[in-house]
Amino acid sequence: MSDGNFESADDLAREQPLLRGSVCLSCRDHRTIVSGRGSVFLLCQSDHTPPQWPKYPRQPLHSCPYWSAEDPD
Ligand code: SF4
Repeated sequence: MSDGNFESADDLAREQPLLRGSVCLSCRDHRTIVSGRGSVFLLCQSDHTPPQWPKYPRQPLHSCPYWSAEDPD
């Protein structure tokens, strides 16, 4: 698995019908993973989720109590 360039990976994620509406894409704790076959997954790296929270939440995730805004540049 390779995540490549983050901006490009997120652009790719937004092209996926299942992912484009995901709240994870606007969360600072997501990481977009692109497999060698071109499949795109959204990994949750939040430190605030409970232990049973999935690393790869079922998508599309429309709301999340652990969502955090991206850090301002
Ligand atoms: S905290 Fe919630 S919104 Fe953020 S990446 Fe994890 S599952 Fe997605």
